Amino acid sequence: MITKLEYERAKAEAARMIRAAGVVITEEEAGKVEVADFGLGNLHAEGAQILTFFCTERVAAKVIALFPRQTEPEHWHPRVGDDPGKEETIRVISGTLYFYVPGAGEVRAGSVPAGKESCYTVRNERVMGPGDQITLEPGTRHWFQAGPEGAVLYTFSTCARDVLDGFTDPNVERQTRLDDGV
Ligand code: ZN
Repeated sequence: MITKLEYERAKAEAARMIRAAGVVITEEEAGKVEVADFGLGNLHAEGAQILTFFCTERVAAKVIALFPRQTEPEHWHPRVGDDPGKEETIRVISGTLYFYVPGAGEVRAGSVPAGKESCYTVRNERVMGPGDQITLEPGTRHWFQAGPEGAVLYTFSTCARDVLDGFTDPNVERQTRLDDGV
């Protein structure tokens, strides 16, 4: 849970970062940036700011802004009925992104969020900069973290059903809840 003030501040900062990265967005879109704390209540450590350009039954395009060292928790996109699951390509626009997929390796440049060792199980690291991209097959566990200057990235995918994503951390709730202070 995060406060409404925290939500609004994060949304404004994310819109500023997206524009600073050279991505043109309308005022309306700036107001629609989704702030996701994944129910963990520690937005700047584990969270993401997501703007969906479009999401149809077949394709989706989004831009994600991550604050410095902010981590999108480990997750995967499972099969849904006849759909084998979301295939996703992530392309970095600005900043540095530490990206983790299954395979041999260690977390070197990035870091597992404090006390969350068991929630970050894939550790094959790649360090990505502007123009670098990675395509993930459906069902592949992955997580990513911004470098010290934050990061802005595109995600292009087949149909996105975010609420059905699987997360390694059992405490994740995909829908952000606001603490309105009452
Ligand atoms: Zn994903």
